Amino acid sequence: MTDEHKRVFKPDPLLTTGTTDQEYVPVDSHKLFAKKDSPGKYLSEALRSRMRLDGKRFWAGDNISDYITESDKEHLLNEATTAFETVLDTLLIDRENDPNSKGTARRLAKMYFNEIMAGRYEPAPDATAFPNDSDDRYDGMLVVRSELKSMCSHHHQPVSGVAYIGILAAQKLIGLSKYTRIAQWCARRGTLQEELCNDIAREIMSATGSENVAVYIQATHGCCENRGIMAHSSLTQTTVLKGSFKDDTGTKKEFFDNIKLQQEFAPR
Ligand SMILES: [Zn+2]
Repeated sequence: MTDEHKRVFKPDPLLTTGTTDQEYVPVDSHKLFAKKDSPGKYLSEALRSRMRLDGKRFWAGDNISDYITESDKEHLLNEATTAFETVLDTLLIDRENDPNSKGTARRLAKMYFNEIMAGRYEPAPDATAFPNDSDDRYDGMLVVRSELKSMCSHHHQPVSGVAYIGILAAQKLIGLSKYTRIAQWCARRGTLQEELCNDIAREIMSATGSENVAVYIQATHGCCENRGIMAHSSLTQTTVLKGSFKDDTGTKKEFFDNIKLQQEFAPR
């Protein structure tokens, strides 16, 4: 890569945080001002500058919902539509006359924001915890199987599979559907399966207060099936073990035995 293609992140000279100077105009609802008539007036530029100023990471697998309002999202959808139009034009696709390509740029923009990357822009699902602290509290293992749809950060190809989430009940319990909601919220971003496994374990630990959590994912990857090695029966397995699942061989065995029982009961 030549130097001219290297991107150096530094405060954008077109944007500033604290001015009422006439040269600058406010950017949407944020405390950011952009130079009048500059390309820096794009909201996406303003938001990226703001995250850089805050030291907030905004990788494909990161949730950035704290930085985006609903009205911002509408604004960003328009910006992304224009950008996808440029991509289609560069691919020499006639989006004026090809009826199938007419609305494609807009459809792509909406799909990214509202579907395949929705977990970046939406706050964490509400997972109300119920107390589990009575004398006859449940202290066994719980294993929940969650359907997963994700997308790899490298190629933006679909990742499809299941996560088995194991937990030893702590002082609080969350509703069964919440495990899947949390897993899907983590999955609907650009991810790597290894990172996704870690993300789900971390979010389940924080929602339940349990130190003893395990996540096993098996998934197929579009980037291995549809391109590259074109391997149609490839399957990737990843496991993250925390607390007793890691330290106690009996707990670990029970977790994998439960997965086998689930797969026998309802094969996947
Ligand atoms: Zn990939």
